Amino acid sequence: MPQTAASAAREILTGLHDLMASRGSTQAKLDKVVDIIAEAMKSEVCSIYVLRDNALELYATHGLNKGAVHVTRLRMGEGLVGTIAEQGLILNLDEASSHPQYAYRPETGEEDFHSFAGIPIVRREEPIGVLTVQHEDTRRYEDVEIEALQTVAMVLSELLASAGIADGTRGRARDTGAQTLVGLKLVAGMAKGAAVFHQPKVTVEHTVAEDTEAERARVYAAFRKMRDQIDHMTREAEFGVAGEHEEVLETYKMFAYDEGWARRINEAIDSGLTAEAAIERVQQRTRARMQEIDDPLLAERMHDLEDLSNRLMRIVAGRFGTAAQQGLKEDTILIARNLGPAELLDYDRRRLKGVILQEGSLTAHVTIVARAMGVPVVGRIDDIRHIASEGDPILVDGDQGSIVVRPSRAVTHTFDQRMATSQKRRAEFAAIRNKPAETTDGKRVTLMVNAGLSEDVAQLDIVGAEGIGLFRTEFQFLVAATLPGRESQLKLYKEVLDAAGDKPVVFRTLDIGGDKALPYLQDVKDEAENPAMGWRALRLSLDRQALMKAQARALLEAAGGRHLKVMFPMVSEPWEYEEARALFEEQVEWLRKKKRMLPTVTEYGCMLEVPSLAEMLDILLPRLDFLSIGTNDLTQFLFAADRAEPRLAERYDWLSPAILRFLRRIAVQAKEADVPVRVCGEMGGRPLEALALIGIGIENFSITPAAVGPIKAMVRSLDAGEAKKELDRLLAKPPRDLRKTLLAWAKRHDVVLG
Ligand code: PEP
Ligand code: MG
Repeated sequence: MPQTAASAAREILTGLHDLMASRGSTQAKLDKVVDIIAEAMKSEVCSIYVLRDNALELYATHGLNKGAVHVTRLRMGEGLVGTIAEQGLILNLDEASSHPQYAYRPETGEEDFHSFAGIPIVRREEPIGVLTVQHEDTRRYEDVEIEALQTVAMVLSELLASAGIADGTRGRARDTGAQTLVGLKLVAGMAKGAAVFHQPKVTVEHTVAEDTEAERARVYAAFRKMRDQIDHMTREAEFGVAGEHEEVLETYKMFAYDEGWARRINEAIDSGLTAEAAIERVQQRTRARMQEIDDPLLAERMHDLEDLSNRLMRIVAGRFGTAAQQGLKEDTILIARNLGPAELLDYDRRRLKGVILQEGSLTAHVTIVARAMGVPVVGRIDDIRHIASEGDPILVDGDQGSIVVRPSRAVTHTFDQRMATSQKRRAEFAAIRNKPAETTDGKRVTLMVNAGLSEDVAQLDIVGAEGIGLFRTEFQFLVAATLPGRESQLKLYKEVLDAAGDKPVVFRTLDIGGDKALPYLQDVKDEAENPAMGWRALRLSLDRQALMKAQARALLEAAGGRHLKVMFPMVSEPWEYEEARALFEEQVEWLRKKKRMLPTVTEYGCMLEVPSLAEMLDILLPRLDFLSIGTNDLTQFLFAADRAEPRLAERYDWLSPAILRFLRRIAVQAKEADVPVRVCGEMGGRPLEALALIGIGIENFSITPAAVGPIKAMVRSLDAGEAKKELDRLLAKPPRDLRKTLLAWAKRHDVVLG
């Protein structure tokens, strides 16, 4: 046997190269392959088993009885070969028959051979066959021999795949059993579909290199590009866009520059593999090592290396697109580490049924967008990439925050029944659609919806909402490939007003920046360390007046002859509101001069998202037509806790005395000034939170459409006067766990919480 694994494999691969390209039947090729391997390994036996109809069939052999070919079949898990395939492990035995799994097959004549090595042949991480060698004498195979056999097994996987003779290469991958995983509930609802990876994995098509030096050059170039990308991401702190986390980036960086990794890929190329196959080969080896590791921290690191390895593979293969660009072919459960809102909006809404994120948090914009789309999301399923394969059936339960990968028939059946029940509940909500949101003691609550795309307007009637309390105009910018001009803005705003008919629509001016970066606006791409507190929303609009003027004109013209309501996001000091309002009023004058039709009434309002504004309400309120509290941003600033940081996702509760007291102060002041106040953050769409908000004097809500039914049901079962008393009591002397106490109170008072 040659000295190194690379030279050992190279000898075999050189022999296989011409054979792979030659014509001839697969059977003839495999018959030749076993001869080549046996000769190079100086082994008495070399056999190839192929997974066909759920059994491993002896397909070609050098050394065993030829009569056993296509006759000897082992089930998954049966005998040494079945164990290797089922568990994806390598066996290296000096005495095969003493292994507990050994199953004697007399037709093969294998009793003459003592030592045995078997390697799984894997395609798309699924076993499709087994390669074995046997010797008469009792000996263990050396590491270099095993390594060489693994490389050869990769080439065989290509050969079997192109011939389409193995199970996994013909149809759906092997079922590896159901797995239930619990994560973080991000968007409620239930969905089922097939797994699709946002960043698809590349399947290696060609394993044997034509020109080793050319392959080496490709890998070097890919390494350079990958390192540039990682450096760029770290420098630009582009976390919001790509979704990569700071810590992950640090690890990425460490691996990207790891000489050991590059060297191992280089060695795999030396053995005659293509660049793609070499990366995959090293990845397989890492994966195998990972299974032996017990340290969760180290295992986590290894996952990061795998991510990076996939990235390197995509660069080498020139596959940069996401699954959205390739189009969804069936009902889909999308899997990603994280997503930007624009990336999610790229997907076909008819086919996208659910989303699973490795990271994710409750008020990140991608979550809000998914909620608006009615797509259930479960977050913080760290392991998903390693448990699910492309195409696996998956159930997503956004109500419980869990998922099931490859569910059994019984589990699917129960899930279907629960889905039907939740549809029934939706029907119950539909039944109160035209009834008022009025408490049992006669207090009227206004329920409006948050929207961002013209399709969302249809939801108004479906759920029975009273208007759009927050139209996020930046969504149009997020889904566009280039900056939407005034004309296309005008068209959208008109469509929205037309579709809303008599119902009011509150347009919020652009809130870009933060985690809503626009790829086509270089300087609006946030490069700050803390983009949520950075140059975003109104701050950016006031500095970029051309952008705001275009939007103001589009809004004013779209609302010609109708009522216009405008509000400004992220106002931190009253002068910002004044300046923004003045800009709109200038445009009114300009349009008047041009004799364009103007809105009959224009109302101006403010978002209260930055705590500093709460201190200035005495000055600001007299100038406002309405105030809208954005609890997503407000609470992140109150607690100094990033809304997109998964580790803080569950740390601070909206039902905390600090938040509720703060909001109550605003509600009281606004009421005294006779300015309507509304809550338009995600908080208002949760029944118990909405109960608390009513208890502190909030009567207007703008929420995600799917929440209108549940919130209306809650309101109609609530005595607002009693709720106020309870909240006064709780906020005067807060209990340790306000949520728990309030929940118990709601239950005692038969409040419907969904
Ligand atoms: C908010 O901050 O609560 C809000 C409604 O605005 P957005 O979620 O779009 O930042
Ligand atoms: Mg906000």
